[in-house]
Amino acid sequence: MSRKVTDNVVETGASDTSAPRHVTTIIVGSGFAGLGMAIRLRQQGRDDFLVLERGSEVGGTWRDNTYPGAACDVPSHLYSYSFALNPDWTRSFSKQGEIQNYIRSVAQRHDVLDNHVFDCDVTSIRWNNETTQWEIGSSKGAFTADTVVSAIGALCEPSLPDIKGINDFEGEIFHSARWNHDADLDGKRVAVIGTGASSIQIVPAIANKVASLDVYQRTAPWLLPRMDRPYLLPERLAFKHIPGFQRLSRAAIYAARETQVLGLTRLPVLMKGFEALSRAKLAIEIRDAELRRKVTPNYRIGCKRMLISNEYYPALDRDNVDVVTDPIAEVKAGSIVTKDGTEREIDALIVATGFHVTDSPVYETVYGRDGRSLAEVFDEIGQQAYKGSAVANFPNLFFLVGPNVGLGHTSMVYMIESQINYVADALATIAEQDLHTVEVRPEVQRDYNRDLQDKLAKTVWNTGGCASWYLDKHGNNTTLWPDFTFRFRSLTRQFDVDAYNVTTSAAARADDQKVVAP
Ligand code: NAP
Repeated sequence: MSRKVTDNVVETGASDTSAPRHVTTIIVGSGFAGLGMAIRLRQQGRDDFLVLERGSEVGGTWRDNTYPGAACDVPSHLYSYSFALNPDWTRSFSKQGEIQNYIRSVAQRHDVLDNHVFDCDVTSIRWNNETTQWEIGSSKGAFTADTVVSAIGALCEPSLPDIKGINDFEGEIFHSARWNHDADLDGKRVAVIGTGASSIQIVPAIANKVASLDVYQRTAPWLLPRMDRPYLLPERLAFKHIPGFQRLSRAAIYAARETQVLGLTRLPVLMKGFEALSRAKLAIEIRDAELRRKVTPNYRIGCKRMLISNEYYPALDRDNVDVVTDPIAEVKAGSIVTKDGTEREIDALIVATGFHVTDSPVYETVYGRDGRSLAEVFDEIGQQAYKGSAVANFPNLFFLVGPNVGLGHTSMVYMIESQINYVADALATIAEQDLHTVEVRPEVQRDYNRDLQDKLAKTVWNTGGCASWYLDKHGNNTTLWPDFTFRFRSLTRQFDVDAYNVTTSAAARADDQKVVAP
């Protein structure tokens, strides 16, 4: 059954007091994942879905991360949807604004914006055993749905450091993913906490504008060269007009990136070349021996995400930039004090400390068949899912960018599209086979995750001697996919209904009749 729901949902769903509006499928979030899912449903001829998005436009992480220097570290031609290649990329590695424009244009071209409810903060997702539907609470009213696709992403909830006194800081303070563009940093004394992927882009972008910049480093990252350059006009014309040229280029980038999987997951010796390259870069780009010592990583390359930048080390080497490695003891109204007792005065504090990934607060808002939240379930068994897409006890709920589908070496959009294949086929199977509920069997989920953890145990992420957001509080790697990405693609090609406990709509209808029969 397909129904046009858009207009009246936006109208009647806009008030907390209105009755819940029913939609067959609700997608939560409209970043690369949620938007891609919406487009696929539209391509399948469906219009009985809504995308609830807390922001005021599509884009997800690329809408939210507007910090100076924000750019992707996966090449442009790979970091895009396979069904919407863009011959007009201006650089080999795109900047945030260009990616956001691309996502916007894809949404417009595929005519799914009318299915969106923007500025809609989803506050709860609860399975109702009586109605066998999902009940969704939001800032734009209540909804019910037969199926829910969670596409909230892993890097959406900023993680703020629990540092004594940080809430009493009186200058400008903001997280990298919530950049305050009204804050004028020019000529100011600024501190950045964190040296991850965001920080290493922010630091060079602001170093020459601020009076002084203190970079608080807990763990030094491994850095590789960034092979970024503008595309020349002949190249762009070739991407546009020579049939197959762009796909070929994309395939070559994909293949080159995929070779890293062997080194990261099975043959650590293969990472030695990267390590040598990174050490050479450090030696060339940082003149000061003491600074070089400070920023030399003390774990194996690849254990944390390998970062790419040609500007970070030279920025650290500037006279107005200091790398502080003494742990932070406390933040005061106008300064940061480190454990060695040094107090450094600042006007602004940028918190580039990453995201809640394995402990997402969203998990506390999703309640399954037995009344327990995802947070409670994950607390017990660890963050896990079957094929990153389904969790036992949560019928008719699918995840995009769920547990263990993350990557460090290539395009997440590839993984997202694999999951979209799987979930779209699941929704089609539900319709074709007249299924009422599908819920992954606990033993299937358990075996799948046992196999994953066996593979992960040998990887550099688990054995490389670092602490990272890839690992949860139990020390399990519940974020990354430990194999070639084409293996995940083949695993998710079709919905494997045999892995699921199902109920049929016919049985549900019969139950309903029993209830109403005299
Ligand atoms: P991140 O990689 O998690 O880095 C957070 C940084 O903050 C780390 O250096 C961490 O130190 C430090 N930190 C955390 N808590 C701290 C505390 N209490 N005190 C002191 N330091 C603390 O976060 P991110 O840089 O935002 O990047 C997150 C992910 O987003 C990346 O891994 C990547 O997947 C994605 N990303 C991609 C791009 C890109 O494509 N160019 C850009 C930005 C982000 P430790 O290392 O010691 O934990």
